[in-house]
Amino acid sequence: MSDHATPHRLSCHHCGVAYQRPVLAPGEWATCFRCGSTLETYAVFSAGAWLAVLIATVISFALANAFPVATLYVQGAGQAASFIDAVVITWNVGYPEVAAITFAAGFFLPACQLGLLVWIFSALAVGRMPLFFETVIHWVDRLKPWCMVPVFLMGVMVAVVKLAGLASLTPGIGLFATATSAILITALTRLNSEKIRSMAHDLGLPAKPAPISKPPSLTIIMRTWALMLGAVILYIPANMLPIMRVSTMGSESAHTIMGGVIELWHMGSWDIALVVFIASVAVPLFKLVALGTLVFLTQQRTGIKLRERTHLYVIVEFIGQWSMLDVFVVILLSALGHFGSLLSIEPGGGAAAFGGVVILTMLAAMGFDPCLAWRLAGHRKHLRRADLESTH
Ligand SMILES: [Zn+2]
Repeated sequence: MSDHATPHRLSCHHCGVAYQRPVLAPGEWATCFRCGSTLETYAVFSAGAWLAVLIATVISFALANAFPVATLYVQGAGQAASFIDAVVITWNVGYPEVAAITFAAGFFLPACQLGLLVWIFSALAVGRMPLFFETVIHWVDRLKPWCMVPVFLMGVMVAVVKLAGLASLTPGIGLFATATSAILITALTRLNSEKIRSMAHDLGLPAKPAPISKPPSLTIIMRTWALMLGAVILYIPANMLPIMRVSTMGSESAHTIMGGVIELWHMGSWDIALVVFIASVAVPLFKLVALGTLVFLTQQRTGIKLRERTHLYVIVEFIGQWSMLDVFVVILLSALGHFGSLLSIEPGGGAAAFGGVVILTMLAAMGFDPCLAWRLAGHRKHLRRADLESTH
C-alpha cells in the first residue's frame, strides 16, 4: 500500500537521527542503527480494526466508572464504591489535591485520550483525513503517559487484599470492566503520533511527514534538575506523614507508606507487599537516581555508554506512572471504609505529597531529552538528514 512516490520521514525520538521510512513486511520492525530504539513495527491492525478496539474500550471504560468496583460488608452493612465515589469522598474529607490528581489520571485524561483516538480513527476508517490532524496527534502523545487506568486496576487489587483482613468484600461489575479497559488501554498505547501519521500516509491521505525536530536546547538540563529537586523535597513528607488514617471502634492508627508495606507483609500478603514496595519506594528512588545520573553525564558531555543510557531513559519513562499505585489504593480504601464509628479510613497528608512526587518526577523525565546526550557527546549531526532531503 505504501506510496513510494512521496517518501515519508521518521526520526528517532531517542537520539535524533532522521530516516527515510522503511517499507516493512509482516513480522518486521525497524530499529535505529545508532541507539537501538525501535522506530516502527509492521502495522498488523487496519484503521477499522483500531476503531473496533476503541469502541470496545469506550464501552468497558464507561461501565468501569458507572458501576462499583467492590462492596465492603461490616456487621451486615454494605458500602459500595466506584472510582468516581472514591474521588468525591476524597474531595469531601479535605484532600482536593489528591482527588484532582486521581480524577485526572484515572478518568479525565484517559477519557480525553479515547476521545482524540476515536476522532482520528472514525475518519481514517472511512478513508478521510481527520480534521485538526496535527493538533490531535500531538495531544495523543502528550496525554499518553498520564492515562493510568492499568495502575488504578492494580490499586483495586491491593485495596482488596488490604481490606480482606478487616471485613468481607465482594468484587463488583466495575472491577471486571476496569480490568477489561486496563488491558485494552494498554493495547492502545501502541498508537503514537508517528504510527498514526504512517497509517494515514499508507491510506493515501495527505499526512505531512513529521517535522525534523530542532536540536534540544541546554535549558532542559536546568529545568530537569529543578523538577527533580522539587520531587526530592516532597519525598520527605511523602514518607514521613501518614498516607492514611484508619479508625476502628475508637482506636485510631496512622499508616505511612513503609508502615503499610510492613503491615501487608505481616498479614502474609508478601506478594502484594512487594508490589507496593516496588511501586511506592523503589520506583521513585530508582527514577530520581537514574535520571540524575543521565542528566549529570549529559552535562559532562561524555560519550560513555550512550546506547545503555538511552535504554535507561526508556525504562525511566515507562515506569513513571506506576508510582501512583499507593495514592489510588488510599482513595479506594477511604471510599470503601466508610462506616462511621465502626470503621473509617481517610487519606493523610502523605498521599498529597506523594502525588506531588509522582507528578514532578514524571514531568522531569518527560522534559529531559536523550537526544541532548548524543548531541553534547559530539554526535552533532542529524546523520541522515542530508541524503534524506536530496530524495525529495
Ligand atoms: Zn536512535
